[in-house]
Amino acid sequence: MGASYLDNKQYAVKYADIVIQSYHPVKHITTGEGGAILTNNSEIDDKVRRLRTHGITRDPAQMEKNDGPWYYEMQDLGYNYRITDFQCVLGSSQLEKLDRFVLERRKIAKSYDELFSGFDILTVPKTNSSIDHAYHLYPLQIDFEKLFLTKAAFFHKMKQVGINLQVHYIPVHLQPFYIRNYRFKSGYCNIAESFYDRVVSIPLYPSLTDAESEKVVAHITKFIESK
Ligand SMILES: *Cc1c(COP(=O)(O)O)cnc(C)c1O
Repeated sequence: MGASYLDNKQYAVKYADIVIQSYHPVKHITTGEGGAILTNNSEIDDKVRRLRTHGITRDPAQMEKNDGPWYYEMQDLGYNYRITDFQCVLGSSQLEKLDRFVLERRKIAKSYDELFSGFDILTVPKTNSSIDHAYHLYPLQIDFEKLFLTKAAFFHKMKQVGINLQVHYIPVHLQPFYIRNYRFKSGYCNIAESFYDRVVSIPLYPSLTDAESEKVVAHITKFIESK
């Protein structure tokens, strides 16, 4: 959210029939939980709105008959996926802050890019001039083989100095569900798997202070230089 491609923020629905967004607390804006579906296709829009409310429509134009002002029709087997009003209040106020949140994220990412790019065992997230990245994450790739260190040991070391790393994501085809049901195994998606071997997500969120991001850089670079 907030990213642009060729200076256009509305790029996503240009290339996709449906765009889904998550408003989980770690995302650019939050409603506590939940998300949204964006589409320019009115048929999909109607269907999603019906599914959200028990498969029910109150739009006379979509009903097979009309018994009166109270009348509605259940046309699909739907769900109760309505967001609460309380969450909407939070979402509306978050939306006003989106531009600032994105700027903060870009500022932190830029300083990470500059400070990490001098190390040949590190690969910073790739971008180019047609993209204004929104930096939901900052996936830093580390060549752990050259470091003679496992990723788990690196996590542990960073945790000891108060830096909480994450990994986005574990390749989905290696999850037990997919292995059991689709017989995937390692080697099936080499590029995703080697990315997984190298990637760590380092802290990146709007309220991260300069001192905190400098601490992240200092600990990671100090640790790498000491190896
Ligand atoms: C946040 C996120 C999800 C999960 O979204 P939910 O709203 O929790 O369902 C899945 N994939 C990516 C890439 C995400 O960033």
